[in-house]
Amino acid sequence: MLDFLEVIKNEFLSYFVPEKVEYKIEGECKKCGKCCRYMYSFDTYTEKEFKFMQFLFPSYRRFYIRGKDESGNLIFACKYVTEEGLCSVYEKRLPMCKRYPAKKIYYPGKLHEGCGYKIVKKTFEEYLKK
Ligand code: SF4
Ligand code: SF4
Repeated sequence: MLDFLEVIKNEFLSYFVPEKVEYKIEGECKKCGKCCRYMYSFDTYTEKEFKFMQFLFPSYRRFYIRGKDESGNLIFACKYVTEEGLCSVYEKRLPMCKRYPAKKIYYPGKLHEGCGYKIVKKTFEEYLKK
């Protein structure tokens, strides 16, 4: 009977696992500037939407559309990144820049090729051990 209750409890808890997924970030920034030159937006699909976002959030005026990828998604860049890949407004960079790469990822994202950081995901076995 107790085993059965344990199974029910684990089955119930398993529904919350995706909400607890945490990613560890390892490594360090190599200062290549790729993340400031090639950005995607989670919810900005058209130029019009981008203009509207800039209207709502004036700090986003530092970004511009640099092109589209093969799937038609907009690619953004920041006008404050230097030729050397450094931030020219480092002390005044946005909170999203300070947090990058964020520990908790709520959307399918990945780091740029060659980025000095690495995202380490907890394996299913590690969750079971807890
Ligand atoms: S892509 Fe990675 S290594 Fe390059 S500047 Fe951004 S965080 Fe640093
Ligand atoms: S403000 Fe600085 S850190 Fe943020 S995207 Fe622009 S160049 Fe990069």
